Amino acid sequence: MDAEILAVGTELLMGQIANTNAQYISSRLPDAGINVYYHSVVGDNPVRLKDAVKRALQRSDAVIMTGGLGPTQDDLTKETVAEVLGRKMVLNEECLKKIEEFFRRTGRVMSENNKRQAYFPEGSIILDNGTGTAPGCIVETDGKVVIMLPGPPSEMKPMFERYVMPYFLSKSEYVLHSVYVRIFGIGESMVESMLMDLIDAQTNPTLATYAREGEVTLRVTARCRRDEDPEPVLKPVIDEISARLGDNIFSTDGRSLEQVTADLLIKKGVSIAVAESCTAGMICSRLGDIPGISAVFNRGFVTYSNEAKVENLGVSMETLMKHGAVSRETALEMARGARKAAGTHIGVSVTGIAGPGGGTPEKPVGTVFMALSDGAYETCRELHLWGDRAKIRNLSALNAFDMIRRYLLSKYGND
Ligand code: ATP
Ligand code: MG
Repeated sequence: MDAEILAVGTELLMGQIANTNAQYISSRLPDAGINVYYHSVVGDNPVRLKDAVKRALQRSDAVIMTGGLGPTQDDLTKETVAEVLGRKMVLNEECLKKIEEFFRRTGRVMSENNKRQAYFPEGSIILDNGTGTAPGCIVETDGKVVIMLPGPPSEMKPMFERYVMPYFLSKSEYVLHSVYVRIFGIGESMVESMLMDLIDAQTNPTLATYAREGEVTLRVTARCRRDEDPEPVLKPVIDEISARLGDNIFSTDGRSLEQVTADLLIKKGVSIAVAESCTAGMICSRLGDIPGISAVFNRGFVTYSNEAKVENLGVSMETLMKHGAVSRETALEMARGARKAAGTHIGVSVTGIAGPGGGTPEKPVGTVFMALSDGAYETCRELHLWGDRAKIRNLSALNAFDMIRRYLLSKYGND
């Protein structure tokens, strides 16, 4: 089955918001065996909306629409679809009761136009909105289907998961199962060349790489009958990829680099203190995102100035003068100092030049040093990054997580 996602909303066309609904829906439909061939966006204009619905129905089996289900005059989605399909709009009493109930519960006054939300094209399957007032609906017609969901992502997503995925799954004989192999430390072209023969030979599963900031993701997708176990198709290929890429793979279960690293810290009971210069708290903040991190995360130091590095971490003024604040020597002293001050198993540090100013010929913008010390063992990573300030800081933080992750794997293993 081929699908088109049709987002309705002038604010999308004006660039006020990004069409994240289309992105979300597109990322989910392959798991239900649905191919997405078109994304389109149309404003709240009745003529053009009608046109867009007609065109979508001509070229796609399923049209998934988001937005324009609300109570106001510019919310036209259901009426327009009804018109295109030649259906009447009919009141759903049960739905009206639910909307009234919603207003009672949230203590708000229901205005007359809220009733519009209880009207649907005749013959619709109605989709409850658990988090807002505008219900969605599914209308089947001549072997095709139009699905209408509300615009706010917080309403659309749960409804999509609860009704739309099961709807498609119940229709299709084949489903797709994807595993995302997430990689840090080697670039996309390197990943591709290390797996070239597998990528060339792919039929089932299929392999595709894509790069994000600091990370390469390899999608491995198996196509199976609904009741078939995808494991025998996926496992041999994933095993082969794992053997070739080794520890460059940080997860195959959807977890982020930060999550994987924090999970390892918690699992191995390794306490940590972090001293940050150029990332100024980003690493600490990302550690703080992880539930349960308090078991191992002791403290962080944001030491931007030389004085702070000396006072809080015991970095020697001599080191700073001789090698500079951005140097291997300073990074190592920062990591040692953080560990000592906190009394943790490990101390981790980052110091670097995020730009756009502050670079020199010897140490251009993007020069970053990071270190890890456990008292006996020490390691230091020197990076030469490029990009703007935000990118350099983000990549620095990611590299710090990767440094910690690899240290933990080599010292404690993965089990
Ligand atoms: P409401 O009942 O809130 O009016 P609606 O179904 O009529 O819902 P819209 O009025 O089209 O939806 O959009 C409401 C809000 O939902 C938008 O202001 C925007 O914040 C968000 N939204 C709409 N469409 C999208 C989209 N495609 N991607 C991301 N956000 C969206
Ligand atoms: Mg609206």
